[in-house]
Amino acid sequence: MRKPILAGNWKMNKTRDEAIHFALTVEPNLPKEGMEAVICAPAIILRDLVKRCEVIHVGAQNMNENVSGAYTGEISPVMLKDTKVEYVILGHSERRAYYNETDEKINAKIARALEYDLKPIVCVGEVLEERENGTTNDVLKRQVTKAFEGIVIANPENVVIAYEPVWAIGTGKSASSEQAEEACKFIRSVLADIYGEEVSNEIRILYGGSVNVKNVEELMSMPDIDGGLVGGASLKEADFVTLCKACVE
Ligand code: PEP
Repeated sequence: MRKPILAGNWKMNKTRDEAIHFALTVEPNLPKEGMEAVICAPAIILRDLVKRCEVIHVGAQNMNENVSGAYTGEISPVMLKDTKVEYVILGHSERRAYYNETDEKINAKIARALEYDLKPIVCVGEVLEERENGTTNDVLKRQVTKAFEGIVIANPENVVIAYEPVWAIGTGKSASSEQAEEACKFIRSVLADIYGEEVSNEIRILYGGSVNVKNVEELMSMPDIDGGLVGGASLKEADFVTLCKACVE
């Protein structure tokens, strides 16, 4: 019912030529159906990637909540739409930590993305201290509730949430499949409280945090995990193909 997604978050990696080489290499080997392969690339190479990709769906890694104006260095939803990208990551923990992105700002970005028909991949997740002091669910509830405050979801299939425990990102220390499932299931229950069961059952919830070719099968076998948001392992052609294949049910 929910089509799995494997979204690569390339962060600040790959030049244009490297990205095109990657796309041309992996595309013939990706599953033709049963999942969506997404690459969220640096903004400066999005246009070239969109032109070259036939199977891969292309996404941005961030977006300003304003449509235009005096915001030096920023990229607007209009520009992303003009570039024909489909997805946009919003509220990644690196944006929250290094660029002071608040729940309120992320809420404004989600509203704007949906207004411009961009599919948001909304990242939420607790830091290590919060996991250790038992407040993971409180954090997830706050982040999800604030992110979606006042937002009408007309097409739940166009909204994606990524549960990314901050302690698992880029550390090589993935959450266990049980921890990841528990958090994704909890997020779905928060969505059900806001939007009702039917809508919450259509929203795709990904797990992200040190997903690799060894742990992907087990993580993807969990009922509330509808795919992965993957950093490091998505940079390697062969690994990306393996991760995508593991998402096909
Ligand atoms: C990420 O950047 O969203 C991520 C999950 O990174 P990694 O897979 O490298 O932990």
